[in-house]
Amino acid sequence: MSVRWKAAIPCPITSGDLTVSYFAPVQQVGPATHNGPLFDLRAEADGVHGAGITFLVLPKPDTEFAISVRWNCTEEKVRCVASFGEDACELTGTVDMLAYSFYMAGPLHQHPAQGSPTFNMYWLTEPSFDPVAVAEHIERVYSIMCDFFREPVPGHRVFVRRNPHDGTGGTALPRSFFFGYGDDEVPTVESLSALLAHETAHNWPRLDGEHSETAWYSEGTAEYYSLVLPHRAGLLDDEQFLEPVNERARNYFTNPLQTLTSATAAEIYWRDQRAQRVPYGRGLFYLIDVNAKIQAAGEGKRGVDDLVLAALERRWAGEKVGVAEWLEMVRKELGEAGPDDFAAMEAGEWVVPASDALGEPRGAAVRSYRWQVTDRTQRS
Ligand SMILES: [Zn+2]
Repeated sequence: MSVRWKAAIPCPITSGDLTVSYFAPVQQVGPATHNGPLFDLRAEADGVHGAGITFLVLPKPDTEFAISVRWNCTEEKVRCVASFGEDACELTGTVDMLAYSFYMAGPLHQHPAQGSPTFNMYWLTEPSFDPVAVAEHIERVYSIMCDFFREPVPGHRVFVRRNPHDGTGGTALPRSFFFGYGDDEVPTVESLSALLAHETAHNWPRLDGEHSETAWYSEGTAEYYSLVLPHRAGLLDDEQFLEPVNERARNYFTNPLQTLTSATAAEIYWRDQRAQRVPYGRGLFYLIDVNAKIQAAGEGKRGVDDLVLAALERRWAGEKVGVAEWLEMVRKELGEAGPDDFAAMEAGEWVVPASDALGEPRGAAVRSYRWQVTDRTQRS
């Protein structure tokens, strides 16, 4: 999102400090509001929340600044939190740090109540579910993922909003995510766990490049690791793992837009919700398939984890790692079949992993998975 701001009156060349004041109105929301990305500035329960990209007027995005954040809250019990920290903060970097951050202010509830240096969850409305149980679950998942992705500086903030309309969903920004729930169904730890793990996984893998070219990776890895890491850690047993895998297989193989090329799906991404789901299913089943093939080629010694972790470390070291670098990595593991499989996935061909791609056959659970990959009826 790019917004240009212009003064309403002629402005002489400035020198010295420049103070800009402005009013950011909250979005009017109600039962008829569509559920979308959780970015808009909203009022809720004597508080306010939103993402910086929707309400902050910011200077040039590519210049580094020493940034001081101060909140002007005089009322007792009002607390102010952003993805990057609580209350007053000193930051160094581009203003993207402010734009791509969530903010919440008001009489906040928090878990843990005394605050934690590594994990906190905040909400304004007392939710219809047990917020402490949900927070403890996310914290466990976050800790498992920090270990796997070798997070050097753990720190994660989760914000919760109550939607005055139907719909549950989440949106991630650096070191944080926001999730919202409606009154249409009371969420539970179980019903929220896949969504929360998906948003938590967004802390790590991504590729450099346009969203249209890299969404298969960011959404695919979030789907993949939100399932396999809690399963490996014993947080999900085999049945609890296979149920969401099968649900995703159902969604993937019955999405009538799934055979669009990735580029065509990206063009209608925001106009058709079915197009939004294309990179999720495509990315997940591609990664399951690539993992099985790399494991088979390397007699189980290597897998897609090695590629994802290597890409992450290279990006942390300052290198640009995009689709071209990914193709180099899969070529090294699988020869030309690596880039060929990728091109087929991008062209909209079905990715059908082998029936034992998620592990050794173990009775009914695998039969259930096998049934899904062969049941590819299309539904409009
Ligand atoms: Zn996602």
